Amino acid sequence: MQNFDVAVVGGGAAGLTCALELKRGNSNISVVVIDSCDRLGKKLAATGNGQGNVSNINLSVRNYHGGGAQLAFNVIGGDYKLPERLFNCLFTADGEGRMYPSGRQASALVDSLMRELSMLGARFIYPATVTEISRFNGAFVLTLSTGCPICAGAVVLACGGKAQRQFGTNGGSYVLAQKLGHTLTPLVPSLVQLRTDTSHIKTLKGIRADCKVRAFSGDRLCGSARGDVIFTDYGVSGNAVFKISSAVAGLDDCSLAIEFLPDVSKEEVERDVRAKLALGYPNSELLSGTLHNQLGRAVIKRAGGDPDKIASTLKNFVLPVTGTLGFDYAQVTRGGIDCADVGEDMQSKLVKNLYLVGEYLDVDGDCGGYNLLWAFASGVRAAKSMLSGGKS
Ligand SMILES: Cc1cc2nc3c(=O)[nH]c(=O)nc-3n(C[C@H](O)[C@H](O)[C@H](O)COP(=O)(O)OP(=O)(O)OC[C@H]3O[C@@H](n4cnc5c(N)ncnc54)[C@H](O)[C@@H]3O)c2cc1C
Repeated sequence: MQNFDVAVVGGGAAGLTCALELKRGNSNISVVVIDSCDRLGKKLAATGNGQGNVSNINLSVRNYHGGGAQLAFNVIGGDYKLPERLFNCLFTADGEGRMYPSGRQASALVDSLMRELSMLGARFIYPATVTEISRFNGAFVLTLSTGCPICAGAVVLACGGKAQRQFGTNGGSYVLAQKLGHTLTPLVPSLVQLRTDTSHIKTLKGIRADCKVRAFSGDRLCGSARGDVIFTDYGVSGNAVFKISSAVAGLDDCSLAIEFLPDVSKEEVERDVRAKLALGYPNSELLSGTLHNQLGRAVIKRAGGDPDKIASTLKNFVLPVTGTLGFDYAQVTRGGIDCADVGEDMQSKLVKNLYLVGEYLDVDGDCGGYNLLWAFASGVRAAKSMLSGGKS
């Protein structure tokens, strides 16, 4: 049986940065990264539409959700520039504070990690799934799908969540922590397209508009976002919807209030409609030129011919939410291994030398680089803690 000081289960954003920080801190530590996929960092390479939105300069505890939101904020410690120290390249931020590698290529980040990890002598086993972890004489024995078990002094569970199984994350690995005594909180897809009542949007498939979207659970406002809304045959997609999906994840009785033309007042819209009425425009053309024709007709069909009603419907186009497209379309999982049993050193409070990091835990971030930042920061924190003998 092969022996390692540290076995990292999951070669994604959190696992690879943990391994890198360990090897940078002490190249004599033997580290193995095991991953189910045919490539390491497969999801990382696909992030941000292949451009890798790795962090955000606007950082607040409100950007994180789940039982571990405060833990995540504390572990990140305001260090939104962490990717600059992890990857050997330059980064730039866009107008919304989203940080990207300036080459805008997420796969280059994986290349950078792999290059340095290989140089520092880290070992990799993939594709191989860790199916069981047991304790033996104070160490861990990991059973692998390859049939060759390994032994390690410390284990890092960096298995990700349940979002998008094609990246090796089908949720089947929570059981590894559960069998070691940890608890799993309920799982819900987040940063995902929303299914809605489609009766008022049947003619809008494929149309995209810049909108402000507010989400309600019953009468309670639970979030708002500005950005693209794309109408589809199942409901709505687009970056505003992704952002707002985090606010409705797991809630019942939700609806979206879509505000078209967010930079134009209701009064201006009403005046425009009255002017067109005075010029003898047919009813269906009362928003012509002001709003995309198909959107305009959908608003008018819903509102009737009254200018005040047309303007208020345009400003408050309500769609009841009926669900989401599910984990296979979600960018992130809400819920995970309960953070109550994990310290800020990322070590299990239940099992010594067991570390849990990244999306595997009950932490999820908003759209905009917050999830990768958490994955990197928690991976680095676990490594620092191991390097300092579990005292970090
Ligand atoms: C399409 C897409 C785009 C995204 N874009 C962004 C973005 O731009 N910015 C952002 O901040 N976030 C983004 N995210 C979210 C972000 O990618 C994740 O939150 C982040 O990758 C989580 O890192 P992780 O290391 O915890 O898990 P992952 O990156 O998911 O890695 C987990 C790894 O563990 C492996 N694994 C699981 N179980 C086992 C096992 N038993 N044995 C061996 N290996 C195992 C898996 O194969 C996987 O490679 C995006 C997500 C998706 C799906």
